[in-house]
Amino acid sequence: MSAANPAPSFPIPVPDADTQPFWDGCARGELLIQRCASCGRWLWQPRPICSRCQTPDPPWTRVSGAGTVASWTVIRPPTLAAYSELVPFVVLLVQLDEGVRLLGYLVDERGDLLRTDGVAEGLAMGSRVVLRFHDQAGTILPSWTLAV
Ligand SMILES: [Zn+2]
Repeated sequence: MSAANPAPSFPIPVPDADTQPFWDGCARGELLIQRCASCGRWLWQPRPICSRCQTPDPPWTRVSGAGTVASWTVIRPPTLAAYSELVPFVVLLVQLDEGVRLLGYLVDERGDLLRTDGVAEGLAMGSRVVLRFHDQAGTILPSWTLAV
């Protein structure tokens, strides 16, 4: 690519004080979710205090990432330029077994984005999923594959 025609870039998350531990965990291949030390509530999205009891600094807890498909959608053209060669692909809303819901891609066993509309994979509401991690231009994102 020339400087006049740079490669298209993916939108990437910008960590802040509340989310840095989450992204650091992803980079290590660990899914970390906050859990209130006082009332036990699992918290998503990251926050400085418990949304139920207002206890500060909920500790980060490693979870397996196992859960079920709560919803999903197929991304088709038109998209941002960075995604133009990847469509169609699936974005999942996963309900972790801990009860919180996260967004992520449907990927293969290696964590590579599946170019699919989900039909061939048998995707359905309530399908069990297994955590993987997807490297999107150097940012490690939690993603899932269907459990077999
Ligand atoms: Zn609490």
